[in-house]
Amino acid sequence: MGYDCNVKKLKKNNFRQSKVRGEVASRVRVPGGRIDAASLAKVVEIAVKYGTGEVNLTNRQGFEIPGIPIEDVEEVNKALQSIIDASGVTQAPNKPGEGYPSSGTRNVVACPGKSLCPFGCYDTKELAAKIDKLIYPNDHHVKIACTGCSNDCAHVRLNDFGIIGQTEPQYNPDRCIGCEQCVKYCSRRSVGALSVVNGKIVRDTDKCIGCGVCVIYCPTRAWTRSKEHYFRVSLLGRTGKKNPRLGVDFLKWADEESILKIIKNTYDYLDAYQDRGAVENKEHIGYIVDRTGFEEFLKYIMRDVHFGPKTEMNGRPYWGGKRYDQTNELRSSMYRFSDRPYDGYSGIPREDQPQKKR
Ligand code: SF4
Ligand code: SF4
Ligand code: SF4
Repeated sequence: MGYDCNVKKLKKNNFRQSKVRGEVASRVRVPGGRIDAASLAKVVEIAVKYGTGEVNLTNRQGFEIPGIPIEDVEEVNKALQSIIDASGVTQAPNKPGEGYPSSGTRNVVACPGKSLCPFGCYDTKELAAKIDKLIYPNDHHVKIACTGCSNDCAHVRLNDFGIIGQTEPQYNPDRCIGCEQCVKYCSRRSVGALSVVNGKIVRDTDKCIGCGVCVIYCPTRAWTRSKEHYFRVSLLGRTGKKNPRLGVDFLKWADEESILKIIKNTYDYLDAYQDRGAVENKEHIGYIVDRTGFEEFLKYIMRDVHFGPKTEMNGRPYWGGKRYDQTNELRSSMYRFSDRPYDGYSGIPREDQPQKKR
């Protein structure tokens, strides 16, 4: 067998262990979910030549090529090189042909964003590629996702950093014909931040989430997007067995440069506090912050960060989430079917249902 069959090494090289003995799956990173057609064809070629001919799409916008015999790993790594080059993924220096250099920091996910979607407040793919270059390769377990607007099609609140595009809508009263479409759509499709005062439209700046819906539905372009791109950042969302939780709003109206610094600084914090005993550096940031306290995390991530005047920061975020490690849900609001029989699919135990009058 030509390849060193070391599971730890294989995982780090971005291969997934398989249930089938002697086989692995090659994982292909696709930063921001954008891949060129030639690379896509290469994925297919590898799957046909070395795998089962199938390709799995991963939740983090990558590919998984199953059924690769371990002895073919070196060959597959060589074949992956053109995909790695085209995707702009940073490789360890002088290691072409050796595949992906690490797997801890996960693929940066992005919704279609401004390049495709009319609601996109920024180029999500471009930012995802920029972040990938900044943080990869790295063994720390970090998840980052970019979404173009408050619709959050990329489900960024399940990530350590969720970057949500914002625009600050600009109103030109001279172009306004008073049709109130913007008021209607802001109310129906967003948060209801617009009202009519003396025939003009007024925006409640505290309430406005910068979604840009008013810009899309104004027929005369009286509302336009701000030249500057702004971002809402949600922090430390996670899935998992112990304490899954949604990310909490940390920043509003932040700028790109500050966000990139914060992400980079997070790796210094992880270098300082990662529990070396944790399996393969897989301790999740959220659990580390639980250990050190948020203040310590903040001290690291805010180094050399200088926000603009519009940025708002939540200095005392609180995460709750599900505590599977602490509570027994069956004893609170859930019932065992065997204990309390249900009537059909009503969801209400029979004894709690209102009684019919006789
Ligand atoms: S999050 Fe916004 S920009 Fe991204 S795909 Fe959804 S609607 Fe479009
Ligand atoms: S950006 Fe969104 S929330 Fe703000 S005023 Fe326009 S529609 Fe309403
Ligand atoms: S949709 Fe445009 S034109 Fe109509 S009221 Fe709003 S700003 Fe004025």
